Amino acid sequence: MAAPQRIVIENCAIATVDADDTEYANGHVVVAGNRIEALGAGKAPEGLENVVRRIDATGHLVTPGLVNTHHHYYQWITRGLATDHNLFDWLVALYPTWARIDEQMVRAAAQGSLAMMARGGVTTAMDHHYVFPHGSGDLSGAIIGAARDMAVRFTLARGSMDRSEKDGGLPPDFAVETLEGALAATEETVRQHHDASFDAMTQVAVAPCSPFSVSTELLTQGAELARHLGVRLHTHGSETVEEEQFCKELFGMGPTDYFESTGWLGADVWMAHCVHMNDSDIAAFARTKTGVAHCPSSNARLAAGIARVPDMLAAGVPVGLGVDGTASNESGELHTELRNALLINRLGAHREAALNARQALRLGTYGGAQVLGRSAEIGSLEPGKLADLVLWNLDTLAHASIADPVTALVFGAAAPVTASFVNGRQIVENSRLLTADEDAIARSTRTEARRLAEIAGR
Ligand SMILES: [Zn+2]
Repeated sequence: MAAPQRIVIENCAIATVDADDTEYANGHVVVAGNRIEALGAGKAPEGLENVVRRIDATGHLVTPGLVNTHHHYYQWITRGLATDHNLFDWLVALYPTWARIDEQMVRAAAQGSLAMMARGGVTTAMDHHYVFPHGSGDLSGAIIGAARDMAVRFTLARGSMDRSEKDGGLPPDFAVETLEGALAATEETVRQHHDASFDAMTQVAVAPCSPFSVSTELLTQGAELARHLGVRLHTHGSETVEEEQFCKELFGMGPTDYFESTGWLGADVWMAHCVHMNDSDIAAFARTKTGVAHCPSSNARLAAGIARVPDMLAAGVPVGLGVDGTASNESGELHTELRNALLINRLGAHREAALNARQALRLGTYGGAQVLGRSAEIGSLEPGKLADLVLWNLDTLAHASIADPVTALVFGAAAPVTASFVNGRQIVENSRLLTADEDAIARSTRTEARRLAEIAGR
């Protein structure tokens, strides 16, 4: 077999985010094929064969690619609506519009969401999609196709809702699937698209939406299905005070106890938000290694509250970062969530060092890989791991006067991405996507947003 092609990156600061938080003030990374072959201080070793490219990364910080752990792509075409609402009022305002989405809209929205994240340094993306109107086409296929075309590593959390208003749930009756229909379609999506290999570009998780939109049977049987198929489980949990009240009234217990009773705590589960968690909830997550997708901007946008991330980390809970859907986080960027996580958690804990810059970077990289079940393959820069990495330019007006590169990246303005690699392939150059036409995507998302508004009679 021919030796793999090598790319050598030199003269850069490196934050590996490995177990020891190893950093190099001036170092090199060698990429061979789709793997990281070597990295360390100083120049790359002499005499490497088959070097097809040598990048002088002076003035840059190299980090693992960012990993997004919670999102709803379809919301890209319903941004900027219900801007002053709490979660339940916002959902009720938007469900009737969301129930009219079709394949063409979902494809455009997925492209918009993916493009926005990828150009900002996301190398592994995910979409929790749970709205499947009758006759709307192959929505899962459209989303997965968009990620594949953009060459971004991807997890589809195949969502579902079957508890509508008539069963005491929040969504209108026309917006939900049946229990049997949801389970069958989820299984079909896993069988068709899930790749369990080390360098998989597409994975699928089982992801009923939330306690207030899903029956107890769908949670229980969804968990059984996921474990039978050997895939991960994802849902929303403990997002708001109203959800906690809902669970207490309907099930006679809080969300965490309810999740435990339905099989939804475990090392193969990650849950978005987890804002309203008491000490025993956090202990249960730590004991079971249940993961958390922390979404600070969305939680602020909907006035949901502040998750206790410092306490979760101290207890040993795996925590990653999430954009959440862009109807509740219009920016749709993950690199700005590093900063927001840092700032909001200091406010929440009312403590100056509650979260530091290195912890914030870890949340957005290794922590994300952990909750997606992929920490052996991605999330840190180590020989043998997949070559998902970002070159942040810290040599411009925005950051050049900050000495410490990780501090500059997290505390400073959003840093420009000079290059981003996924699986050894460059997908971003100078903050522009190489794998898609951003301007064409912008136009099609505007067209589809208008078409949806018209169909929904908004
Ligand atoms: Zn969400």
